[in-house]
Amino acid sequence: MFIGHFAVGFASKRAAPRASLGVLMAAPLFLDLLWPIFLIAGVESVRIEPGNTAVTPLDLHDYPWSHSLATSLAWSAVFAAAFWAATRYARGAIVLAVGVFSHFVLDFVTHRPDLPLYPGSPISVGLGLWNSRPATLAVECALFVVGVAIYARTTRAINRRGAVALWTLVGFLLLFYAANMFGPPPPSVDVIKYGGLTGWLFVPWAWWIDRNRVTRG
Ligand SMILES: [Zn+2]
Repeated sequence: MFIGHFAVGFASKRAAPRASLGVLMAAPLFLDLLWPIFLIAGVESVRIEPGNTAVTPLDLHDYPWSHSLATSLAWSAVFAAAFWAATRYARGAIVLAVGVFSHFVLDFVTHRPDLPLYPGSPISVGLGLWNSRPATLAVECALFVVGVAIYARTTRAINRRGAVALWTLVGFLLLFYAANMFGPPPPSVDVIKYGGLTGWLFVPWAWWIDRNRVTRG
């Protein structure tokens, strides 16, 4: 899943209004932020295989540290604990824990059975929404619209930047998603590895949006 994870970040603002959208977005993206680092480190690997499912041209056969059930729970606990230690905002920490783990849940719905239960597990799970491109688009776009709407209604821009930065991100994500869904597969694994690192840029972008908006009411 791609923009569905962003939807969770946007919607989280309503549940934890005192946390910045930067950290609220980092949580549901976290497993995918770790993934390129583990690919570069050689701890995990990926193959390009057009037709692996109707949607993804990637064979995600080896990502037990970023994406297994057990490590997802562990990352969720680590992320929430670090936030709580830094802010003492308990409600925010809980929302972030749910946010990090939501990545596994949404990927479980989307991927073919390639998510291991734990590193070394012989059992991998996934419901395979990606076998249908129309169903994937319908589910993911619906999630995205709801998530963005919740954020836009929970906050309001205090200046022009607060509106422009938000709607630029929304537009960029939709274009990027369309390119992902309908464009050619990535030309090389290096592009996945190093291109994947650019996902980290969404964190300061989301933080900057939030700096220029306030919670309503
Ligand atoms: Zn993922």
